[in-house]
Formats: sequence, structure tokens, C-alpha cells
Amino acid sequence: MSRENTRLARLVKHREHFKCEMCGKTKLAKMYEYRSISFVRDYIPPHLKKMCGDCIYRECYGTKFYKKKKKEGTLDK
Ligand SMILES: [Zn+2]
Repeated sequence: MSRENTRLARLVKHREHFKCEMCGKTKLAKMYEYRSISFVRDYIPPHLKKMCGDCIYRECYGTKFYKKKKKEGTLDK
């Protein structure tokens, strides 16, 4: 079994007015849900239900690649 964290990112709404739980900005944009599953005992991974595109792509791909990935819409399918 893999000991690495598994990340789940999901597009929830294509157009929604919401406050991003990570950066705190209010946006009218795509809304994502983000959850990382950890196999480490006694660690409760975060489950963010409202995340903006910038934050979710940055979490998944890192600051170096997220802009390119966001353009491709990798998580939007
Ligand atoms: Zn955000």
C-alpha cells in the first residue's frame, strides 16, 4: 500500500459566487472541492469544500506548473 497522500480534487460548480476557503477571496468562478487522504494515523487531512481555481491548481501541481495546468483545465474534466 502506498504511504503517500492521495489527493482528490473535484470541480463542483462551473459558476458560483463563493468565498474561497484557502485564500479568502470572494469570487464568481468555478468552485472546487479538495481533500487529501492520509494514511498517517492521528492526522486528519483537510477537506476544503470551497476552493477557487488558483488555489486548487496550486495545491495539486505546485507554484511552478499550476498556471499551465489551469490553462489546460486538467482538473475540470
Ligand atoms: Zn483561493
